[in-house]
Amino acid sequence: AAPPALLELRDLHVFYGAIEALKGVSLTVGEGEVVALLGANGAGKSTTLKTASGMLAPRAGEVLLHGERVDGITSHELVQLGIGHVPEGRRVFPRMTVLENLRMGAYRLRRPDPADLDRVFTLFPVLAERRKQIGGTLSGGEQQMLAIGRALMGKPELLLLDEPSMGLAPLIVQQIFEILKEINAQGTTLLLVEQNASRALALADRGYVLETGSVVMSDDADALLADPRIRAAYLGES
Ligand code: ATP
Repeated sequence: AAPPALLELRDLHVFYGAIEALKGVSLTVGEGEVVALLGANGAGKSTTLKTASGMLAPRAGEVLLHGERVDGITSHELVQLGIGHVPEGRRVFPRMTVLENLRMGAYRLRRPDPADLDRVFTLFPVLAERRKQIGGTLSGGEQQMLAIGRALMGKPELLLLDEPSMGLAPLIVQQIFEILKEINAQGTTLLLVEQNASRALALADRGYVLETGSVVMSDDADALLADPRIRAAYLGES
């Protein structure tokens, strides 16, 4: 049986000026799931995550968290409601230390919990070693870890991840995916945008494929991995 829905996007229409980037996107993320969102450049993956996290408002459609409408709510309030967003390109605060970056992730919480910092340092020991280092001087992989750690400091029930593997060496990507698996095992639900479809589907329970602003396929991750159309379009096979 499918787990109860944590996040539901219903028939979202999102525009940038006159450009309709999402043309009626619907998807569901169940409690505890890992869901992958695949698609080519410009398909609307980042726009979908930004709408779910309140950074963009849909012109039509609904965003529901545990069945309650949250579209129109600010991204700050959505952090308090349990949605964490790790944006594309990481966006760590380059002049702040690792520790200051992590504290920024918790500042919207009514009651920051010191155990959250311990959790992040256990998941990412390198961040503990580099806690006094300036964010902008970290390697790309470390900055990605910091961006994920900062989002975890907001105690998210759902973590939205936009291309966590972008621009990183395969060994680092593997490390980050292992940590994402552990984060999910600890109870955090994940909605993951990835160009690296094989890695994303290896981690995910289910996946959706976006093309020019519409969902064109959705299935269990295993079924998507085995699908010849997916293999040809996203796994570099022909
Ligand atoms: P990518 O991997 O390249 O980020 P994506 O699937 O995440 O691709 P989006 O970034 O969501 O795609 O973009 C969806 C569409 O909206 C594209 O046609 C893109 O050109 C357009 N778009 C995105 N951001 C803006 C913006 N700020 N202004 C105008 N158009 C935009």
